[in-house]
Amino acid sequence: MPRPISAVIHLQNLQHNLSIVRQHVGKSKIWSVMKADGYGHGIKQIWSALKETDGFGVLDFDEAILLRKEGWKGPILLLEGFFQPQDLQLIDQYNLTTSVHSEWQLFAIENAQLSSPISVYIKLNSGMNRLGFSPSEYESVVQRLFKMPNIRHLTLMSHFANSDTKTGVVEPFRQIQQFEHLSLETCIANSGATLWHKQTQYDWVRTGILLYGASPSGKSADIFGLGLKAAMTLQSEVIAIHEIPAGQSIGYGSRFTSTKPMRIATVACGYADGYPRHAANGTPVWCKGKRCALLGAVSMDMLTIDISDCDDVKLGERVELWGQNLPVDEVAQAAGTIGYELLCALAKRVPISYENKVE
Ligand SMILES: *Cc1c(COP(=O)(O)O)cnc(C)c1O
Repeated sequence: MPRPISAVIHLQNLQHNLSIVRQHVGKSKIWSVMKADGYGHGIKQIWSALKETDGFGVLDFDEAILLRKEGWKGPILLLEGFFQPQDLQLIDQYNLTTSVHSEWQLFAIENAQLSSPISVYIKLNSGMNRLGFSPSEYESVVQRLFKMPNIRHLTLMSHFANSDTKTGVVEPFRQIQQFEHLSLETCIANSGATLWHKQTQYDWVRTGILLYGASPSGKSADIFGLGLKAAMTLQSEVIAIHEIPAGQSIGYGSRFTSTKPMRIATVACGYADGYPRHAANGTPVWCKGKRCALLGAVSMDMLTIDISDCDDVKLGERVELWGQNLPVDEVAQAAGTIGYELLCALAKRVPISYENKVE
């Protein structure tokens, strides 16, 4: 028997979540964002569950080429653009859409020998100060690109730093609206903006986290009632049970000491599986239909939970670390992070199985 931990990917839930996003965006088209190997879910196995999308957004060429080899013929967007002038040959060969954020990329496109013109997303820095042309140079960049024979289609792209708050998009959005007279196709909304700032949806949205059933704010309450379903369940089993008296400590650093007699269970899951080592005492772990409390420090391969109030938990009992019964954001919050990070950090050693293949 292999170690009992596994991640289960619910393919129907991915398909379902895409349909929920579709209801929210009306006529706008959807880039389903698949970077970080589909937020840890596995691009190769999940893309067809999302094939009703209008396009896939990825980060690296291997992800884009994988999608082409798997048979996806629709649009693919390189969210971070290309990294060297030679990459334009791959963009040409695989018919990819690329974002463009820097002067050297304009020069590279001007000078490339391509078999056909390419589509470009021109990144506007609307205040994130990570990638993109400043508002003052933006229009001249657009004019320069318009003149290039290597360009087929141009889209205005920008990204919000604070789309999960009401005020966070106001100033960046004003920067973006300055360019409406250029009549470019526009794509600015990530998941947070798509949900909470409908006026930013424009022609295309770029949604990632919603497809995987977690919250753009990292707080599960913020997406409650939307009908999104967890796409990943991380599960394992109880491999030891102990009765301890008051005054016993648990795990490295004795971060938890019992104040009364307790029944505790050791679970085969640790930080080397991607479970957050910073999870605090009391972080919920789902067992026997209940939230049980994490006790003590998470080890590399194990963690301990309180099963004092859980009737007849047995050796081999199934435990859910996050997923259909326990939102990943709740676990993340207890560890000072967001669901995104936990999903993307699922460790390679955890076997993944895929259920409910969608036709
Ligand atoms: C990751 C990413 C997205 C998707 O973000 P979510 O919050 O997961 O929807 C959108 N646009 C860009 C440029 C990204 O890098």
